[in-house]
Amino acid sequence: MTSVVEPLVAIVTTDLSAITRGRSVAESRLDRIAATGVGWLQANLSLTPFNSIVTPNPWGSSGDLRLIPDRQARFRTARTGSPTPFDMIAGDIVELDGSPWLGCTRTMLKDALAELTAATGLSVIAAFEQEFQISGASFAPAHSLSLAALRRADPFAPALMAALEEAGVNPEVIIAEFGDEQFEVTHAPADGLAAADRCVAIREITRELARNLGWQATFTPKTAPNAVGNGVHIHFSFIDADGQPATYDPSGPAGLSTKAGAFCAGVLRHLPAMTALTAASVSSYYRLKPHSWSSSYTWLADRDREASLRICPVATIGGKDPSRQFNIEYRAADATGNPYLSLAAIVRAGLEGIKANLPTPPLVSGDPTLMSEAEQGKLGLRRLPETLPAAIDALLADGTVIGWFAPAFVESFVGVKRHEAERLAGLDPAAICELYRTLY
Ligand code: GLU
Ligand code: MG
Repeated sequence: MTSVVEPLVAIVTTDLSAITRGRSVAESRLDRIAATGVGWLQANLSLTPFNSIVTPNPWGSSGDLRLIPDRQARFRTARTGSPTPFDMIAGDIVELDGSPWLGCTRTMLKDALAELTAATGLSVIAAFEQEFQISGASFAPAHSLSLAALRRADPFAPALMAALEEAGVNPEVIIAEFGDEQFEVTHAPADGLAAADRCVAIREITRELARNLGWQATFTPKTAPNAVGNGVHIHFSFIDADGQPATYDPSGPAGLSTKAGAFCAGVLRHLPAMTALTAASVSSYYRLKPHSWSSSYTWLADRDREASLRICPVATIGGKDPSRQFNIEYRAADATGNPYLSLAAIVRAGLEGIKANLPTPPLVSGDPTLMSEAEQGKLGLRRLPETLPAAIDALLADGTVIGWFAPAFVESFVGVKRHEAERLAGLDPAAICELYRTLY
């Protein structure tokens, strides 16, 4: 049987629960709708991951917006195994007259990046390193990180790389990770906005390809309370106005330039409040625990995977220039956090640090859980919030972080997250992890 299909292109936005939603148009109509986009509505910002909407919310049932495709952010591939190509364009949400809408996280990221550049001359280069797990595949047992663990899933890994390549994501490496049925995929560093767009495209393409193999790919922070976590490690570095690397200074602590050090100090200062944004679900807090290689303290370290900000290694083999590789990794993020909002928060916090000329934080080695409170205090180590409600409280207690957003945005965010915590209050951690596994 032959079927006639009109290929669709989806104009998408990613919401406060990191769910990518949107509206699709016939590809042949894209030119006609490009300038005015598709309809969107304010109350969508109060959608939850459970197909419910928070009530009351600041928006109610009236109001209309437009979602305008950014054609630079189009990701199209015919290689996911679906009958028609995967085709998405990230959009910006605007008012009907085209002015920016206060709830658009992609616009927030653009604004944060632009403000950093205006104030410092620096631009952000970023990459999202994402871990996920496959279920429903009945793989034979295999060793962590082994060749066999990747090959048993064949052709999943090469098919994913082909789809990501065709979509323009610029994938770098795929591995079978440490956890059961866990994989990780990275993309080449890109400017901050493009990196966040790629992060979304990678999640969606990975899920679609797995679905077409009869499996589920989940990016949930924890598939079970004691399982290995799925992190989203956000790598960042800076270039100056001439495109020259500006993160590395061989005479700085662990190679950090003065500005990069001040940026890190700003991030650590606001990290407890930012956690609600970057680790945005109830299950996120099963991951952010000591000894999990995730992140649990306001901690900068040179190449330590327990730290929240990890200075990443550089390879100088063959005389390679370290300055272009040198980058810092924010590890307190997962895929329940909106990537635009997560990176925007990192950039805003870092900019606060640069504006205040904060000194580079101490580089901490060792295990904070073995230190006295006094020792922790001397090193600036504070435990990150241990639950989503505690993270929301920390967010609301940090006037600087709250000040980055419009009040109605904060109200929507807190509303969604409180709803999430309340909704799960009667479930045990295993049931909560299982629910998020199916949702992410
Ligand atoms: N799976 C760990 C996490 O939850 C990260 C392991 C690694 O360093 O890649 O972040
Ligand atoms: Mg990893």
